[in-house]
Amino acid sequence: MTKTLAVAVPGPFLAPLDYLPPSDSPQPPIGSRVRVPLGRREVIGIVTAEHDQSTINESRLRAVTRVIDEAPLLPTSLMSLIAWAARYYHHPIGEAYATALPARLRQGQPAVPGEQTYWRITTTGREQSADAWQKRAPRQAMLLQALKDNDALAAGDLAGLGGDARGALQRLVERGFAEAIKRSDYGTIQAETTAPAPVLNDAQATTAARIMPGEGHQAILLEGVTGSGKTEVYLDAIARATEMGLQSLVIVPEIGLTPQLLSRFRRRLNARIAVLHSGLADGERLNAWLAAAHGRADVIIGTRSAVFVPLARPGLMIVDEEHDASLKQQEGFRYSARDLAVLRAHRAEVPVVLGSATPALETLANAAQKRYLHCQLNERAGNARPPSMQLLDMRGQPTQEGLSQPLITRVGEHLEADGQVLLFLNRRGFAPVIICHECGWLAECERCDARYTYHRGRRRLHCHHCDSERRIPDACPQCGSVDLRPLGLGTERIEAALEAAFPETPLVRIDRDTTRRRGGFEQQMAAAVRGDARLLLGTQMLAKGHHLPAVTLVAIIDADQGLFGADFRAAERLAQLVVQVAGRAGRAERPGEVVIQTHHPEHPLLQTLIHGGYPAFARTALLEREAAGLPPSRAMALLRAEAVQREAPMRFLRAASRIAPQYRGLECLGPYPAPMEKRAGRFRAQLMLQADERAVLQTMLEAWVPQLQPLREARAVRWSIDVDPTETL
Ligand code: ADP
Ligand code: ZN
Ligand code: ZN
Repeated sequence: MTKTLAVAVPGPFLAPLDYLPPSDSPQPPIGSRVRVPLGRREVIGIVTAEHDQSTINESRLRAVTRVIDEAPLLPTSLMSLIAWAARYYHHPIGEAYATALPARLRQGQPAVPGEQTYWRITTTGREQSADAWQKRAPRQAMLLQALKDNDALAAGDLAGLGGDARGALQRLVERGFAEAIKRSDYGTIQAETTAPAPVLNDAQATTAARIMPGEGHQAILLEGVTGSGKTEVYLDAIARATEMGLQSLVIVPEIGLTPQLLSRFRRRLNARIAVLHSGLADGERLNAWLAAAHGRADVIIGTRSAVFVPLARPGLMIVDEEHDASLKQQEGFRYSARDLAVLRAHRAEVPVVLGSATPALETLANAAQKRYLHCQLNERAGNARPPSMQLLDMRGQPTQEGLSQPLITRVGEHLEADGQVLLFLNRRGFAPVIICHECGWLAECERCDARYTYHRGRRRLHCHHCDSERRIPDACPQCGSVDLRPLGLGTERIEAALEAAFPETPLVRIDRDTTRRRGGFEQQMAAAVRGDARLLLGTQMLAKGHHLPAVTLVAIIDADQGLFGADFRAAERLAQLVVQVAGRAGRAERPGEVVIQTHHPEHPLLQTLIHGGYPAFARTALLEREAAGLPPSRAMALLRAEAVQREAPMRFLRAASRIAPQYRGLECLGPYPAPMEKRAGRFRAQLMLQADERAVLQTMLEAWVPQLQPLREARAVRWSIDVDPTETL
């Protein structure tokens, strides 16, 4: 009897497909890549299992045409994690594997490190004195010193230097002081001279002592206000893991993987560090992935998909900013990197730490049920004082482009006292709407149920939902009036107002428009951190995770945006944002002040937050979720559908709902059109499933999802399942 091989291939298949082994070449081990025929194409798949027989008649099976890897590419533990995730999120197995593999490996290239570019100092360069260059070109001087101190620098090393390091390096090459060389190796980042660790305070030491690499699994929620020294606790645990020869995997939100963080890890850890994020070139990504898989990196810092990186000697997992929405993929394979990290750590029998100043309500519920050990750091480390928070009632206040007079006065006082001021508004552009003052016409996107945002700098109307752009009309298309006016606030408009109020004060605006260029964000942030700019204005890009020691005043320009959101998580997100932004203030010796502009100062959410802080807010919010039967007290999944024809999604969802298996304690709500029904030219609708028990929901989905694709109505739509959705819009 012939064996058959189960192969995970790209395509809509929930399970691997059966193939016959190759006729001539050596047999592929489980976990290796193979080429197989699929329809009229040939594709690359992963061998996931061997069977003695197939349920399909052997004469109909096709054979593997080529074996790519003679040795397994993926360890079985990781394969079972991927299989688990594909099943839990009800997503095609081949696409789950595709998420786990770097592009080069998906394309069938060999699993060996590729050539990397390095830079090293030339003889002429060595004769230069870095000090002499300090005045003329400080960044080049810094690089010159770094090149002298290191054998060679890789592209990854440059990220840690901040600013436009690549440009400065190019100029050193032109001057003949440095040269580029190619080398084939893993390209991990070597430790710099190790800086001494601070002595942990009591709270930190108690927490650190509970993270025990090498002594089995334990999930730990590390809840600590911003600046309380969570990162120091991570570093302590990572250093111990490294010393034991174990690898640490650190998962951070996309926006959190900054040169600041990287250089802090480099300075403090005597370890080889690999970095995995979406900004890497394919070759760099492959090398970092291999460094982790082959045990050539001790610490792997990465964004979401790093949760799938193979580890030769797993010892510790950390998810920083575990509440962050970017840890859940919002398209295709909708997995939660946080939840999978916990599962992975459990299976690998290693500790996992979830860190945040504002833990997700899910995580707090898990901690309350004793699934996670709850550790708290309530005090800021060092001498920093917590900021004071107050609401600024906007009702009836005269405003200057969204800035109330009391706020302007306060900003002036802080600038006068040599403080730095951070202003936060989570909306870029000049104004979210442009309106005709004569007839009330609004510029609306034709492809979305949304208004165009007015961008004054670019002189364009831009839809933030589908990215379409158009010219600003000269006159109203409805009545011909030329009196078109911007309505509402965006960062560009606040910038103009600040420039008018404080013409002499240097200002930096940080949002997606000002940081589009490669390295733009780092450069702007560097100016903010150095304190060249006294007024810092931005969206959540500015709000997250950066140390801004000179900031003494934080102003939230419009809290009302988040108070009445359509999503059931809107309040949670607002509270997290307010607390995270507030955390930027008063980090150093100076106490900080936080001012929140609102038209609803009596709103219970704001009141609870101001007077009880995030923990009090979270307690209230959890009770509300329970009363409303929403996650985390119940389990949820969404079936979404979209199509160019308005009726098609609803028709499909109705058909899906008709065949939905019934279970006690499980409800199927809808279908209903999405709150923004039309987006990028497609109409969208959804069906919501809620269950008392996660297991019941899973049983139902397992029976139901395979029946969806065969539905006649499915042909007219694109549909997807979202288990544990973090957005219900
Ligand atoms: P978090 O990650 O919670 O925001 P960090 O670990 O970044 O906090 O610490 C905030 C600041 O306090 C950093 O500058 C850090 O170096 C400093 N710090 C943290 N722990 C200590 C300590 N035990 N002694 C002295 N300084 C500390
Ligand atoms: Zn008009
Ligand atoms: Zn649009």
